[in-house]
Amino acid sequence: RRIAVVLGTRPEIIKLAPVVHALGEAAEMVFTAQHYDPELSDVFFRNASLPPPTMPLSGAGGRDRADQVGLMLTGLVTHFRSTRPAAVVVQGDTNSANAGAQAAHYLGIPVVHVEAGLRSHDRAMPEEINRLVIGAVADVHCCATAGNADALLAGGTPAGAVHVTGNPIVEATRRALPEPRLQAAVLEDFRVTAGEYVLATVHRPENTDSAEQLAALLESLGELNRPVLLPLHPRTRARLEAFGIEPPVNVRLCQPVDHPTFLALALGATLVVSDSGGVQEEVTVLGKPLVVVRNSTERPESIDAGFAVLTQPAGVAAAAAHLLRPGWPARLRSLPCPFGDGHAGERIAALALAVAGAGTQPVTA
Ligand code: UDP
Repeated sequence: RRIAVVLGTRPEIIKLAPVVHALGEAAEMVFTAQHYDPELSDVFFRNASLPPPTMPLSGAGGRDRADQVGLMLTGLVTHFRSTRPAAVVVQGDTNSANAGAQAAHYLGIPVVHVEAGLRSHDRAMPEEINRLVIGAVADVHCCATAGNADALLAGGTPAGAVHVTGNPIVEATRRALPEPRLQAAVLEDFRVTAGEYVLATVHRPENTDSAEQLAALLESLGELNRPVLLPLHPRTRARLEAFGIEPPVNVRLCQPVDHPTFLALALGATLVVSDSGGVQEEVTVLGKPLVVVRNSTERPESIDAGFAVLTQPAGVAAAAAHLLRPGWPARLRSLPCPFGDGHAGERIAALALAVAGAGTQPVTA
C-alpha cells in the first residue's frame, strides 16, 4: 500500500514536490484539479520533475466552495476505498487539502498535514476554516516553525503528534531557482532591468472580489514610480475584465509564469508586492523585500524577521519606502530564512512512512 499525496493547486504542487521526491516509489500523487488551467498545474509538475499524477475526479475546479469540497470529498472517498492508501498527506489550507484530510479521516487512514499550525485568526478567510478543519482531523502535524507548533499545542493538539519539520518551500525554491545565466535570460525576455522594477501578484478573494479594492490595489502599484510586472492569476484577469479596470501606465500585465521564471523575476526585482502565502516564504529564501497587501497574515515570521510589511493598498507606497530604506535590502540578503533548513521534505516523508507503517487504523471498506 502506498502513501497518497493529495494536491489541487499551484502552491501544493510546488511545496509537496520535495515530499514526493523523498517518498519515491511509496508516493501516489492524487490531483484534484482544483486549479485546472494548465498554466497553473501541468507546468508545475514538469518544473518539479514530477510524473503525471492520478486524476480520479472531474469537474470540481471552478465551483463554489460547498460544491467543491463536497464533490472532492465524495470522489476521494471512492478513490481511497479502492486504492487503500496507508496514509494520506495534505498540505496547507486549500479546499483540496480539506477534502483529502476529511476523506482519509472518515476511512480511518492516518492524515499527515504539511504546513500545520498556521493561524490568521481571521474567520472570514476560507483558508482559515480549512486549516481548522484539517487540524482537527490530522494525526501528524508537520509544522514549518516552532511558533506554528506552539499554536497547535495551545489549542490542545497532543504534543506527540506535533513535529517541527520546516517548510519544504525552502528546498523547492532553492531547487527551482535558475542559475545566474538563465536568470539574466529571463529578465531579458521580460524586458526588465535587474534592480529597477517591481514584481507583483494578486489573487486572494479579499483583493479581487470588489471593484473598489482591486482598483485601489492597482492604483497603489501605479504610485511606485517604477515599472511593475504583474503576472495575472486567471481569477484576477477575469475580475479586471468584468469590472472594466485598466492598469496604470507603469503596470505591465502578463500571463502567469512557471516557477523558475517567477523566482528569477523575484530575485531580479527591487521589491515584490503580493497577497500570496507562498511568496511570503519565498522572499525569505531569496532575501528580497515584500509588501503584503492583505487584512491579516498567518505568516508573521516574514514580517517579524524584517522581510515583509503588511498593509492595505493605501499604505503600499509607505511600506515600499520603509523596506527600501538605505542599507535594508542589502541586510535582507544576509538574514536567515525563518522557515527551515531545506530538509523538510525528508523529515515529512519519514514521518509519513512511520505512521503508514504503524498501521494502527485499518481502512474501513
Ligand atoms: N508563482 C508562479 N508563477 C506566477 C505566480 C506565482 O510560479 O506567475 C508561484 C510562487 O513562486 C509561489 C506560488 O506560486 O511559489 C504561490 O502560489 P499562489 O500565490 O497561487 O498561492 P498561495 O501561496 O497564496 O496559496
